[in-house]
Amino acid sequence: MQWRGFGQDQAIDIVRHVIANLQSRFKGQLSGMYVWNAANSSNKYVFMEEMAKLKEVNERAHDWIMQIQLKHWCVHAFDTDVKSEHTTNNITESFNSWVDKYRGYPALMLLESLRRKMMKRMYKRLEDARKWSSNLPPLVAKKLAERQDEGRFVIVLCASDTEYEVKEESKYFIVNLITRSCDCGLWEVSGIPCKHAMAVITAKRLSAEDYVDAYLTKAAYLRTYSYVIHPIPSQSQWPEVQHPEVLPPEKKRLPGRPKKKQEKGS
Ligand SMILES: [Zn+2]
Repeated sequence: MQWRGFGQDQAIDIVRHVIANLQSRFKGQLSGMYVWNAANSSNKYVFMEEMAKLKEVNERAHDWIMQIQLKHWCVHAFDTDVKSEHTTNNITESFNSWVDKYRGYPALMLLESLRRKMMKRMYKRLEDARKWSSNLPPLVAKKLAERQDEGRFVIVLCASDTEYEVKEESKYFIVNLITRSCDCGLWEVSGIPCKHAMAVITAKRLSAEDYVDAYLTKAAYLRTYSYVIHPIPSQSQWPEVQHPEVLPPEKKRLPGRPKKKQEKGS
């Protein structure tokens, strides 16, 4: 399989900040809900409908947010190679709380503590994944089952072995099993068949696993965690090297009172 790269500017984590910023700029004008709906929809047409509602209630807020490139905050405009429909930056917050107790450490201790923590985490993930009986990670399998469940309420109309028209309430969506796409946009962006595609896959008695992107399989997970962060002995046992000693940068005194006082006894 060819590995696809993540573009430097494909930041997919700023919706909450965009909305917080929007709400502080346009206080009390209830525009957040439309923005959330627009941002979280994988369907371009739903995005357009929600943005039209926002424009109606607050044109300035609409114009302000539309200046931000859509690929940074709208699921429908995300890079479909990435296979993620996440719109929050919870991962950054979890990481920050994960490393919190190390923050006050000196540089070397901080790096060593993080290295050790990452080393243990990588191996634990590999060990856990080896025990999975399915070809899909549990979270992906759960999402697939949910979408299959939601797909019970749509009607599948066959056009050929690969193309289908799927009716949900009063709307129709085109599902294509070859291009792995659906008009709702969710399959391409998330890598997991949407409810419309799941309805087709179930009706045709196909294996849903075969339609999940290779990025989201157990094999990809195992490859990700197969890299080893090697153990390192105590500093006293490190080999001698012929480099000049690296010294910390000169300390500059910042104006004002220091923010964090040293704890007693440390
Ligand atoms: Zn769909």
